[in-house]
Amino acid sequence: METNWDVVVLGGGTAGLFAGIAAARNGAKTLVIERGGHLGGNIATGMNLGGFFDGRDRQVVKGIPEELVQRVVALNGGRGHIFFHDMDRWISSTASLDPEIFKHVAFEMVREAGCGLWLYTAFVRSVSAGRNVTAVEVGTKLGVVRLTAKVFIDATGDADLTAASGGAFERGGGTRQKAVTCMFRVGNVDLPAAERFMQERVNTDNKTPWTFENCALRASHRYWTPWKSFPDLAAKWPKQFGVYYHGTPGEVFLNCTHTSIDSLDPDDITAGTMRLRRQAMEFLQFLKAQVWGFENCHLVHVYDLGVRESRRVIGDYMLTVEDMTTERRFADVVAMGAYPPDLHDANRGDILIAGEGFGNALTEDEIVRGGSLPYNPGYQIPYRTLMPVSHDNLLVAGRCISATFEAQAGTRGMAPCAAMGQAVGTAAAIACAGNATPRALDVGRLQAQLLADGAWLGGDHVAGP
Ligand SMILES: Cc1cc2nc3c(=O)[nH]c(=O)nc-3n(C[C@H](O)[C@H](O)[C@H](O)COP(=O)(O)OP(=O)(O)OC[C@H]3O[C@@H](n4cnc5c(N)ncnc54)[C@H](O)[C@@H]3O)c2cc1C
Repeated sequence: METNWDVVVLGGGTAGLFAGIAAARNGAKTLVIERGGHLGGNIATGMNLGGFFDGRDRQVVKGIPEELVQRVVALNGGRGHIFFHDMDRWISSTASLDPEIFKHVAFEMVREAGCGLWLYTAFVRSVSAGRNVTAVEVGTKLGVVRLTAKVFIDATGDADLTAASGGAFERGGGTRQKAVTCMFRVGNVDLPAAERFMQERVNTDNKTPWTFENCALRASHRYWTPWKSFPDLAAKWPKQFGVYYHGTPGEVFLNCTHTSIDSLDPDDITAGTMRLRRQAMEFLQFLKAQVWGFENCHLVHVYDLGVRESRRVIGDYMLTVEDMTTERRFADVVAMGAYPPDLHDANRGDILIAGEGFGNALTEDEIVRGGSLPYNPGYQIPYRTLMPVSHDNLLVAGRCISATFEAQAGTRGMAPCAAMGQAVGTAAAIACAGNATPRALDVGRLQAQLLADGAWLGGDHVAGP
């Protein structure tokens, strides 16, 4: 058993997967630690990946994340990038990937990169010396194992490693909190009948006809909102209702359970998961009884708890919504994103937040009534948001980076998380090769490597810190 590595990535999810591949491809002896039985984290629950393209149809996330999309699509594992040109520019596209084919491709890419991987292994504690993490201890079937590395990457989503290492973080947004959800998947849906239901019962003001081919995050928010036809139920159910279709006849993924919990508390996580599974069952009964096409559907899978936000690390810089909406340029840009602030407030049910360029806090009701949203500009993610102030050899990526509560509603999108993953993995490998810490890294060198590896940084980045 190898316990001495250049780079250890904690969490093999949306960001950690790409961090591991990038670090290994760039020559670092890398190990990814993942508590589950597959890679990709939240990507593997059947949602479409948002934030690859901005409202001008510029592809802002490329590189390894785009390579993965193309490989999954080449195996008929989803419909790839879908564009919503006739709708609005809030989310102008999303990428459809079948979760099972995705999981296969993720394993293949990690294996081909020569990246080490321990599944079913959870982070337990960290060991620090001054401003550096020197080791982490992980729980395996053989007991607790200590792993050393030169650079550690916290891609746990919840910043478990940073918090355990004494790093500072924030949580929540005052009275506001992003909801948690369990996605679920149903089979044997008569898709044409369900489309007729939408057209005749929901799309009564004759917007662009709703079809499973064009459904995805943004489109579903506007059109697939059965509560319009069932006002008595609208008060009871969460306002959000996301539908995802990856091209398998009769099979649909639903994003409509919703609750509020303390997403780090074991009692709450458990109670919330049980509550959401109950919601999924109730929702299934509603669909079978009330919505054409779902009469003979069956439940295929209820996914594990999906957390939109928990800890947000305090980094050298904290990204703001203003940075995103004014297209602020950062000399140390290392990743891009185009997933706009998508709040999902657990209490009020708001989907969006205020912000020049993203509309004025349109609620789901307003969206359904046809409130219009301006285009979504892509945004730059600076290296400093991935660097905890407290440490020199620790990087973070994913939904726990240094961003305000509002900005995190955008940076948590899957394409930006994947791009950050590639950035921190590459940074870690360069740091190891130069015997430096990530903090001492020449950012210009990192940017050059990211561009060489297919990433895009906005076209006008300025090398150097
Ligand atoms: C319900 C829901 C719907 C969403 N819809 C969309 C959407 O439609 N489009 C979009 O682009 N984004 C969407 N998002 C946002 C997006 O999916 C996530 O923000 C993003 O995937 C987070 O990436 P991550 O790498 O930070 O975390 P994750 O993908 O969750 O990865 C974290 C990984 O770390 C592992 N891990 C955690 N703790 C430990 C530990 N202690 N030890 C070992 N391993 C650990 C986990 O098992 C997981 O694999 C949604 C989020 C939710 C919850």
